[in-house]
Parts: sequence; C-alpha cells; structure tokens
Amino acid sequence: MSLLTENQKFWDRVTELAHQNIGQQAFEFFIEPAQLLSIEKDVVNILLDSGMKKDYWRKQSDLITTAGFEIFGRPLTYSLYAKDELSSNELNKLTSKDNVAEATSSETITTVPIANGLNEKYIFENFVQGPGNRWTLAAAVAVADKPGDTYNPLFIYGGAGLGKTHLMHAIGNEILKDNPTAKVKYVSSENFVNDYVNATRKNQMENFENTYRNLDLLLLDDVQFFSDKEGTKTEFFNTFNALYDKGAQIVLTSDRIPQELNNLEERLVSRFSWGLTTDITAPDYETRMAILLIKSESSRLEFPSETLSYIAGQIDSNVRELEGALNRVEFVAKANGITVVDIETASQALRSLKNATQQSLSNLTIKKIQDEVANYYHISFSDLVGPKRPKEIAFPRQIAMYLVRELLGTSLPAIGTAFGGRDHTTVMYAYRQISDKMKTDIEVQKDIDSIKRKF
Ligand code: ADP
Ligand code: MG
Repeated sequence: MSLLTENQKFWDRVTELAHQNIGQQAFEFFIEPAQLLSIEKDVVNILLDSGMKKDYWRKQSDLITTAGFEIFGRPLTYSLYAKDELSSNELNKLTSKDNVAEATSSETITTVPIANGLNEKYIFENFVQGPGNRWTLAAAVAVADKPGDTYNPLFIYGGAGLGKTHLMHAIGNEILKDNPTAKVKYVSSENFVNDYVNATRKNQMENFENTYRNLDLLLLDDVQFFSDKEGTKTEFFNTFNALYDKGAQIVLTSDRIPQELNNLEERLVSRFSWGLTTDITAPDYETRMAILLIKSESSRLEFPSETLSYIAGQIDSNVRELEGALNRVEFVAKANGITVVDIETASQALRSLKNATQQSLSNLTIKKIQDEVANYYHISFSDLVGPKRPKEIAFPRQIAMYLVRELLGTSLPAIGTAFGGRDHTTVMYAYRQISDKMKTDIEVQKDIDSIKRKF
C-alpha cells in the first residue's frame, strides 16, 4: 500500500471523527476547508484557509491523536498553516506536489510504524551502554531473547529522557526480527486508556480484547500516566492477567518504582513486582560522549572531540536534552556557515539552554557547593575556605569557586569573600584555570560532573 493512501486514510479518518463529534455548521466551516499538506516524522502539516481558524484547530488535538493512533499506531502532533498568512511564494512551496511527495516518501517511510506502534529507529544496536543503564539493558536483551520466560513482567523505571522508551522499542524490534509474526504492541498508557474508552463507546470491546489479550508482547509505556478511572483500571488488570497467564511477555515503564504508583491499585502494583524491577539513572560523562559521537556521525558537519566533550560537560542529566543540545549546536553552526564546529559556536548555541538549567538550580547556595566539593575531595570545609595552599586543598578550592561562578553567577568579589576573604583576581584566576581544564582534562570534567549531580 502506498504511503500517499496511508496519509489519505489518515486524513479521511480525521474528517470522519470530526463529523461524528462536531456539529454540522462547525464542521463545514472549520474542518471541510482544511487540507492535509504532508506528514513529516510525527508532525502533520495542515493548511487552513484562514488564520483565524487556528485557535479552533488547536483544540482539536484529539482528532489528530486518535486518527494517528488508529492509522499509524501512534499519536501525532500537528502544525497549522493558514493561506492568508503566507506569501504566495511560501504557499506555492508548501502545496507544490514535490514537497508533498518528498515529505511522504523520504521521512515518513522509515519512521511510520505499522500498527504495532514500534519505531524501528530504536534498536539495541544504537543504544549506548553505561553504568546507569547496564543492568536494565541486560534485562531487556534477556527479555528479547526469551520473551515470557526470564523476567515477566519487566518493569523499568527512571527519570525522563534516559532511554526507557528506546529500550522498550528495542525489545519489540528485536523480537520481530527473530519472529516476524509475533504479535507485538507498543502503547503509551494514555493511549491504552483511549483505546479502551473508544472501544466501550463504539461497542467494540470484543475488538479491543482481541487486540490486547492475544499479544505475545505488550509494551506499556509510562504507567504513571494511567488514568484512575475505575473501568480502565479493571480492564488493565484483566488484560495483564490474561497475558501473564498465557505466558506473554509484558514490559512496563514508569518514572517511579511500582510502590509509588498511587494511581494504580495494590493488586496490580504487586503483580508488577513478580518479575524484575530495574532502574535507569543518568549517563556518566563517558556514556554521554559515546552518545554524542554516535549521534554526530550522521551530521554533515564535523564535530571535533573537544566540542563534543564541551557539550557533554554542559548537559549532564538527560539524554533527550543532550540530543537537543547537539541539534541546537548543529543548527547554529549551519546558520553561520560553519563546517567544523568549534567550542565557541557550541557555547554560543547552548547559552540559552544553560539559563534554563540554572533555574532548576534555584535553591542552590554557595555553602551547599562548598560542602559538596569539600565532601567530594575529602577535605574539611574550614580548609576549603581557609588559608592553606597545598595542591590537595587549592585545587578543590578552585573547583568550588568555578562551580559557584558557573552555577550561581555570583560576582568575583563576592566569591572571594565567601572563600575566606580572597581577592577577586584570585577567583578570576581559579575560574580561568578550571575553565581551561574543562576543555581538555577528562578527570576534571568527570569531577565537576559528579559534583554537579549531587545538587
Ligand atoms: P525516556 O523514555 O526514558 O523518557 P527515551 O527512551 O525517549 O527516554 O530517550 C530519549 C532520547 O534519548 C531518545 O532519542 C533515545 O534514543 C535517546 N537515548 C536515551 N538513552 C540512550 C542511550 N543509552 N544510547 C543512545 N540513545 C539514547
Ligand atoms: Mg519515554
């Protein structure tokens, strides 16, 4: 089946859903004149006849999400364009056949998954192993190798952007590689609930149960978002039991341990712990470097390792943000016609990102930084701010000054005062020393990294 028809099917479904849910008047006014331009990756581009209709369309995300899920097996987002807001040139570009054909044939083919909801980009081969994910990766590989056998259910928890969803898809893709007819389904908890609600509304419960209870592998993402409506919870409970009893593999993810899932009932939560519960934590410096190396390979620009090292030093908690940072740097470099991306460019590109991170550090104080640094290097607070100058003390002191300047933006004289009344030139010297080392010295990067993680 060609993708153009797939897109057409999607758009037909959007209009059909709108027809069912919106009054005739509104339908004719808002929906009918709208046109599907293209679907690129996860984004549906829609052209309206008038900009004043955008507000209405912005509230129709349900249409797009539902149709996206039904046709492509996943929710989509959308961008709105309006004829009266575009120059004729822009309009031509957007509506030209070439653009539509290109958008559908290049990007969409590889990323539009079949109804199993899997994204084939997420595989074990491009998942970088590190201390923060080693055990979870091992468990995921084991599950993909012998589904329903070793760890069932597999429950993965950890903070945002650390690779939980990636690993889930990787399990699904791996199982399908060995066994292409396996019945696999990836679904976010929200969409599981949507599916169920739609099924009850349309009297299609049998359909729903056929889909979910006959699976060989259910990948249910972000169970912390599971709705606490009674019916859906019972359905989930029954689905879980049906699958478990027939030996199907279940993989769940969440941002917290099962015991902290207050939206779910005890009886369900206790089942989550029957198999293996395993966590993912933030990547360390080496892992971040390895991820940046892989991701930057597909770029047409050249990223020297000191630039990657700089980026890895700036973003230290979240792989999604790390990717975002790399993309941003790439974007700024391209915009400036730079082909070999230097640290200057990277730091310029990341300046605004850094401001955002600083906000999350808003309850950090000089004293906290001093304590953590002293603690990290096993020296006392009084030595850190005192007059002694041997290297074992002077170096941590410089690190602490650097961190105060970097994280709190405190003025040089004020930092001097906080470190036993030192002159601002001493602080400036310390700051420069460590800044330089941050560019080249992996040990220093690692130290700073570990200390920052404590805040
Ligand atoms: P989560 O589901 O935990 O919020 P995701 O799985 O969506 O995180 O990961 C966010 C992004 O980071 C994805 O693009 C994913 O491919 C990437 N990513 C996360 N961890 C790794 C890793 N160890 N190696 C390579 N890419 C990773
Ligand atoms: Mg996720």
